[in-house]
Amino acid sequence: MPLHVSHHPLVAHKLAILRDKTTEPKKFRELVRELTWLLGYEAMADLATRERAVETPLETTPGAEVEPRVGLVPVLRAGLGMVEAMLELIPTAEVWHIGLYRDERTLKPVEYYNKLPDAATVQVCLILDPMLATGGSSAATVDILKAWGAARIKQVSLIAAPEGVQTLGNAHADVDIHVAALDSHLNERGYIVPGLGDAGDRQFGTFAGPASEPGHGPDDETAEVVRRLQRDLDR
Ligand code: URA
Repeated sequence: MPLHVSHHPLVAHKLAILRDKTTEPKKFRELVRELTWLLGYEAMADLATRERAVETPLETTPGAEVEPRVGLVPVLRAGLGMVEAMLELIPTAEVWHIGLYRDERTLKPVEYYNKLPDAATVQVCLILDPMLATGGSSAATVDILKAWGAARIKQVSLIAAPEGVQTLGNAHADVDIHVAALDSHLNERGYIVPGLGDAGDRQFGTFAGPASEPGHGPDDETAEVVRRLQRDLDR
């Protein structure tokens, strides 16, 4: 399974501060940006380049330019905080929005926004989602991007749960997954444990109470979805 967990000391250091429940939204957003930068650097290490001659003030020398067109696909809303950092790394990237919301009871993705043009305009797509939890939204996003014609798709997340890695890997074994950490498990409400809580709320300061938490709703149904994912994991 193409899962890449970063072992960079800076990633580990920043992730620890990100997880800390006392880290306030301003600092949290900065860390999401910095971690995205570091993970994006690793995720794009295998992009093809073509040669281009460069005139320095002294002479002409061979240089390189990135060959494929890259598309960034943030998973709304928490993935939005990863876009700017990626654009700093690759300013020519196109940003495409696909709106999928997670049904709070079933944890299944429901599409509500998709304005992709008919034919793919990029070759490589990076799906940006801080938390790879159940993997349902990511697998559904990959379905859409493959049908669109994207040749290569990678997922960049800060933290993954084993359940999410398995779901995405089973559905799309060719998708590389780049993360800062692989955590222990999902809890019965769909949170990654130990995780960092709700990545959207922590970035945007929307602590409206339990209604904004992942997996809120009739707990039996949510817990059953998580139990099913965990049974699949044990097989
Ligand atoms: N989404 C989050 O923001 N956090 C989790 O732990 C799981 C999904």
